[in-house]
Amino acid sequence: AIGECGLDFVTDTPSDRQESYLSMQLELAQQYDLPVILHCRKAHHRLIPMLKRYPLLKGGVLHGFSGSAQQAMSYIELGFYIGVGGTITYPRANKTRVAVSQLPLEFLVIETDAPDMPMHGFQGQPNHPKMLPKVLSELALLKKESEQTIARSLWENSHKLLSICE
Ligand SMILES: [Zn+2]
Repeated sequence: AIGECGLDFVTDTPSDRQESYLSMQLELAQQYDLPVILHCRKAHHRLIPMLKRYPLLKGGVLHGFSGSAQQAMSYIELGFYIGVGGTITYPRANKTRVAVSQLPLEFLVIETDAPDMPMHGFQGQPNHPKMLPKVLSELALLKKESEQTIARSLWENSHKLLSICE
């Protein structure tokens, strides 16, 4: 895949510079027919139109998703999976938790973003891939499905996203 790349309007890097690099990375993805791992903070309003300008056959994943179900659906419609991370373990992240509970399971994948994005209760500690089952448990609660059912879907989705054959 190409990435992680994307737009982060919480950093000091000017948005026009970020957008110019991202457009080159999206062109690369088009040229080599690869999926894209996308990062987005406070920039959905700029990122979604950019993805419409650079349609990607293989789509990709919007990692570390936080936002509304409507925003997530815009990415799904453009061929992207939604990367669900430790954000959903925070009771105060209600908007994202509600959004994730409403999204179709066949377009979700999970992640930790280790060492970033610590889980609820582990703030101030470096995150680790071993925390992934915590995201799975929380997702199972939100989707009102068994962890086994969720895990099976996530496994398949991850393979499809990265074109991995079993
Ligand atoms: Zn990121």
